[in-house]
Amino acid sequence: MSGGRLELRGLRRVHGRDQVPALDGLDLDVPAGSCVAIVGPSGSGKSTVLRLTAGLDAPTAGSVHLDGTDLAGVLPERRGMAMVFQRPLLFPHLSVRDNVAFADRVRGVPRRAARRRAEDFLDLVRLDGFGDRPARTLSGGQEQRVALARALAAEPRVLLLDEPFSALDTRLREEMHELVADLRMRLDPTILLVTHDPAEADALADAVAVLDGGRLLQAGPMRELYGQPVSLGVSRLLGGRTEVPGTVRAGVHHSPLGGLALPRPAADGPAVLVIRHEAVVVTTADDPSADAVGTVVRIRRRGLRALVTVEISSAAGTASVDAELAPGREIANGRTVGLRLPVADRSAVPPAGPGTGTPAPEPAAR
Ligand code: ADP
Ligand code: MG
Repeated sequence: MSGGRLELRGLRRVHGRDQVPALDGLDLDVPAGSCVAIVGPSGSGKSTVLRLTAGLDAPTAGSVHLDGTDLAGVLPERRGMAMVFQRPLLFPHLSVRDNVAFADRVRGVPRRAARRRAEDFLDLVRLDGFGDRPARTLSGGQEQRVALARALAAEPRVLLLDEPFSALDTRLREEMHELVADLRMRLDPTILLVTHDPAEADALADAVAVLDGGRLLQAGPMRELYGQPVSLGVSRLLGGRTEVPGTVRAGVHHSPLGGLALPRPAADGPAVLVIRHEAVVVTTADDPSADAVGTVVRIRRRGLRALVTVEISSAAGTASVDAELAPGREIANGRTVGLRLPVADRSAVPPAGPGTGTPAPEPAAR
C-alpha cells in the first residue's frame, strides 16, 4: 500500500437553507504518504471535510482530487479511501477475523484467502490471536484496532480518520498513537486525521489545518502554528494561555511587560502578544537576562511539571504570563520571579474580534 496525493480545492458545503456553511471554501493539500490533521472545535466542519473527501456527501462547490484526478461523481467505494470513525461500527456477532475480511468477501475474494489476509492485518494492529473472538467481546481499544485493520485491509490510497481515538482513555490513546506511527513507517499511507486534541495532532501529523466555523484559520507544521499563530483563535485552539494586549510600534510590542522586540515584522497598532507557556523560562527576580519581573499568583500541577501564572504590574497596567516549570522545580505562591520570554517565540496577533470567541481549552497534561 502506498498513499496517494490528496488535494481539496475550494470545498464548500451548505446544508439546506443554512445561512452559515458547514464548510466555507477549503483548500488543503495532503502530500502522498503524509499525515495531515484537521483540528477545530465541535461543529467547525471537520467531519464535513472527511465526508466530502470520501464521497459520502457531495460538495455545494469545489472539488476533491486524488493523484491529480477529479473525483466528482466517483462513488465512495471506488475512491480508494477507507474511513475509521469514533465508534468502530463492527458487526458484533461476526468474529474479529470476519469483520476484517468483510470487504474482501464483498469484493469476491474467496473465504480462505480473505481470512488469511485478515490475519495479516490483525498482526499489523497487534491483535494476533484475536481472530476467533466475537467482535462484541472486545474492549474499546481493541475494537478500534479492528476498525483500523479493516480499513487497512481495503488498501486505501487515503485513510480518513474521524476522531478515532477520542473515546479511549489516555493510555490506550497513546498506544494507538504509537500504532499509527508504526503503521505509517511500514505502509506509508496518506492520512487525513480529524481530531479536537492538539496533542494528538502534534503526535501524529506532519502538518495541521485549524478550522473554525467552516473556515481554515491556518495550516502548516505544528511547530510553526505553536510558535507563530496568525490569530487569537488559532492560539486558543492549540491551547495557548498567555495573551497580553498592547500596541506594536516599529516592530516592538508595548504592554505592561514593557517593550518587547518581535522576531517578525508586524503592523503598527493594537496587537496581542502571545507566547507559549512551554517557551517561557522562570528565573530569579535579579537575573539580568529576565525580560519581566512579577509575582506567582497561581500554581497548577501537571504530573512532574507545574504550570505557574505570573502577574506583572507596571505603570502601564497589569499582565499575566503562564509558564511551565521544568520537572522537579518547586516554587511558592507569592514569590517574586523573573521571566525570560525568548524573542523567537513571541508573536503579535490582531486583538479579539469575530472568530476568536473560542474559550481557551485546558491542554492535556503531558
Ligand atoms: P465537526 O465534525 O467539526 O464537529 P461537522 O462537520 O459535523 O463538524 O458539522 C459542521 C456544521 O455543519 C455543524 O454546524 C453541523 O451542525 C452542520 N451539519 C452537519 N451535517 C449536517 C446536516 N446533515 N444537516 C444540517 N447541518 C449539518
Ligand atoms: Mg465530527
